[in-house]
Amino acid sequence: MQTARCIWDALASLLPGDFLARYFRLKGDQVLYVSGSDCHGTPVAVQANQEGVSPGAIADRYHQEFADCFKKLGFSYDLYTRTDREFHHHEVQDLFSKLLNNGYLYKKTINQIYCETDKQFLPDRYVEGNCPVCGNRARGDLCDYCSTLLDPADLTDRTCKICGNPPTSRPTEHFYFSLSRFQDELAEYSDKARGWRENAVQLTKRYLKEGSHPHLARTAYGSRGLPSSGPDIVMRICDPGGEKVFNQPQLGGMGSGYAETLSS
Ligand SMILES: [Zn+2]
Ligand SMILES: [Zn+2]
Repeated sequence: MQTARCIWDALASLLPGDFLARYFRLKGDQVLYVSGSDCHGTPVAVQANQEGVSPGAIADRYHQEFADCFKKLGFSYDLYTRTDREFHHHEVQDLFSKLLNNGYLYKKTINQIYCETDKQFLPDRYVEGNCPVCGNRARGDLCDYCSTLLDPADLTDRTCKICGNPPTSRPTEHFYFSLSRFQDELAEYSDKARGWRENAVQLTKRYLKEGSHPHLARTAYGSRGLPSSGPDIVMRICDPGGEKVFNQPQLGGMGSGYAETLSS
């Protein structure tokens, strides 16, 4: 989360977006190029914890640093915002409600890893343990050695990344998105896709064939985040990953008249 990391991220993953925005502008298309700082993510909460300051202070510091950095690098964002804005909260909650009311979300109770020392549920990547596939030490979301997508419960010999103690688990109820209801459409879409990188093609085929990741959790526990908007789920927060995905089309819908741009 230092400036160096910010620049690296910019070069590795953000430049293609800027190229596209510039290309389509040159072509004469109407372009609205938007992005923003994730102010609800686990790294923010953990860093705040480590420094003994509020998550808001960390979010403010890094948002400013990112925005300055992008400006100096000459990024052409029409809007660079942040996920703790009221607009973002409202739009994500609205989309969550629509998914819920149209039956695309369902509840499921799972056992989630809990640290008795830190007195909190642990996000996936804050659980470490041995990968059930290759046996190497892995994070709770992904094994870097064999690329297997993991659930923290799959790991053996688990430890909490914050305090190093072995965590326990407690049952919790979450909302999940029924991605499997779109299996046919996704298969058709990926069959027709052209110009994808080979690893994207293979990974998509694998997921569709396995059918083992049909449902993505769309709520998560955390110390900080955005309350989801269902009638009986006020204590939940939207999973930051889902929240960001939710917000892309919403930001796009804001229109180019939205004043909060980097240049302002
Ligand atoms: Zn592995
Ligand atoms: Zn702990």
